Amino acid sequence: MAQLYFRYGAMGCGKTMQLLQVAFNYEERGLKVCVIKAKTDTKNGNKLLTRIGPERETNFTFSKRDNIYERISKNYCNVDCILVDEAQFLTPKQVDQLMEIVVKLDIPVICYGLRLNFRRDDSGFEGATRLLQLAHKIEELKTICKCGRKATLSCRFLNDKLVTDGPDILIDDGKNKISYRAICNHRYYKLKEEQ
Ligand SMILES: [Zn+2]
Repeated sequence: MAQLYFRYGAMGCGKTMQLLQVAFNYEERGLKVCVIKAKTDTKNGNKLLTRIGPERETNFTFSKRDNIYERISKNYCNVDCILVDEAQFLTPKQVDQLMEIVVKLDIPVICYGLRLNFRRDDSGFEGATRLLQLAHKIEELKTICKCGRKATLSCRFLNDKLVTDGPDILIDDGKNKISYRAICNHRYYKLKEEQ
């Protein structure tokens, strides 16, 4: 029986790399996968890129208005697995559509994404929150902070200073250096005090 998976982790823990590895494993056995991601990640267009090199074209990207169940049942109902990158940008409705795919089409769906937004506030990402509520299997992909502790937060840095406010998606204007780093809660409080 197929299941819905949510594999979450902070920035840089290798989510996309793991997704590509799973795709490779399926294809090596002669099975088909469908790789999709949210359109909101405008930087890389239709491609999945990783920090350490490997990349891959998606089968399609989706916006918040798309019905993913309809799209899959029309064009990809013969695949053996669906892999979703940037899953935090799904709408709660789309997470429900993924569950429909799992149950009605009997195709496993594996979602990779962030659990928490960079502000670390309780608004989170609605897609991630819905996945935490619905997924059959929830798995953490781990990475470490500078100090060696487990990094659970993906924080935004503007010119190397921690910022804890602002929109979910920040467009790089070329004037400021925007970066995201995976840090632990200890470091978060320390940097927040220095703000
Ligand atoms: Zn730390």
